Amino acid sequence: MNTRVIPIQPVISPAPVAGLAALGDWLRRSRRPILAVQWIVVVAYAGLVAVPAFLPLPPDSAGILDHLTRFAQFAFWGIWWPFVILSIMVLGRAWCGFLCPEGALTEWVSRYGAGGRMPRLLRWSGWPFVAFVMTTVYGQMLSVYEYPKPVLLILGGSTLAAIAVGLLYGREKRLWCRHLCPVSGVFAILARISPLHYRVDRDAWAHSGAKAERINCAPLVHIKSMTGGADCHMCARCSGHKDAISLAARWPGREVAETTPDAAPVWQSRLVAWGMLGVAAGAFQWSASPWLVAIKETLATALVERGWLAPLQEVVHWWLFTSYPEVNDAFSWLDGAMLIGYIAVTAIVLGAWVSGWLYVAERALKLPRARHALALTLTPFAGLTIFLGLFSLTTSQLGPEGVSLAWLPELRALVLTIAVLWSVVLSFAWVRRHAPTSARKVIAIPATLLALALPFATWWILFYRW
Ligand code: SF4
Repeated sequence: MNTRVIPIQPVISPAPVAGLAALGDWLRRSRRPILAVQWIVVVAYAGLVAVPAFLPLPPDSAGILDHLTRFAQFAFWGIWWPFVILSIMVLGRAWCGFLCPEGALTEWVSRYGAGGRMPRLLRWSGWPFVAFVMTTVYGQMLSVYEYPKPVLLILGGSTLAAIAVGLLYGREKRLWCRHLCPVSGVFAILARISPLHYRVDRDAWAHSGAKAERINCAPLVHIKSMTGGADCHMCARCSGHKDAISLAARWPGREVAETTPDAAPVWQSRLVAWGMLGVAAGAFQWSASPWLVAIKETLATALVERGWLAPLQEVVHWWLFTSYPEVNDAFSWLDGAMLIGYIAVTAIVLGAWVSGWLYVAERALKLPRARHALALTLTPFAGLTIFLGLFSLTTSQLGPEGVSLAWLPELRALVLTIAVLWSVVLSFAWVRRHAPTSARKVIAIPATLLALALPFATWWILFYRW
């Protein structure tokens, strides 16, 4: 088999930015103020997660600045999550390294914990996929974007689990972030397309006469052989080490375009296709879907005609499905089943569509495992559509505050266009670099474009048809 690799330089070339290395070194020297900021975030996060759960629900008329619950809702879902997603595509996992309260807590408590070795079962590489799917679906079942008790249960529960892992395993490490955090898989994928990373100069490392200091890389990156940003938390602690590591710029997505089929992580590929393009799309789209309403009405009518009323009863446990009768918001069992069914069907249809076309591309290229690397080229679309889904929560809270949203359709069109073009360019770059012959590219490139077509259609329908 001819596996000729075409140099990538004409399509994607390095773009050094002066001053970045100095910025990385400055961040390394600024450890104390960074820690101070981390603890301020931890305290603010703890307050916003816990306190609203013990307050009465705010009246409909309450604004963001009128009630702590509304403020926390806007802070978490209007600002925090959408812009953390965006920041990782731009800055790598600097959020994890500098601001994430769970990362800070799990690392801090691990200084005083048992320091044990994490069992192999907990280091299974599929956990980030499973945890992302479970928290996404459970969050929808409880309406986590709207009510404070689910926030305490899901975000607070995740934080307690991070602390427990820190107390049990590792010493001054972030094993929670590395193996179990529900968003670590998504963050690792998004960091691959960031234009910033810590670059390792192997020659400089080999010939460095500098005294080797001990570096505590909390997420356990093997620094000397680091070739990408997926696991690096951009904490800057290794900046300047052996005069070989520096903060550097690269073309956005270069790491993905250079990923060989053998190096593409299977679970990250599944997370893109089935999780970010599938489950996340279903989670953002179900509440606006007229199809779901039509099916539910048909089923409800059929149940009433047969006298089967139990599925139409309200669920009484808020930790199972949304249940707030005091504000006339409570799921019936049918509502809950429809929600889970809608997300599941969306995930299966979109995941199978994307995976199927990527498999066609792999067969055309005759490169085993190429579909996993090609899935990573869809990361810009997957990440930016999750940003748009979360940004809908931002705008839905700003609208009642009197903020004009006339610009929203144009902004969404712009972001969708960037998402598609960025992914298409990455797909072209990957195929161009790895395809053995031009004839095989002719099939592989359209197949990859078709993989994007249905996910694009669902988001376009959500924003411009429903
Ligand atoms: S490799 Fe480790 S120590 Fe270096 S910046 Fe990344 S997370 Fe920090």
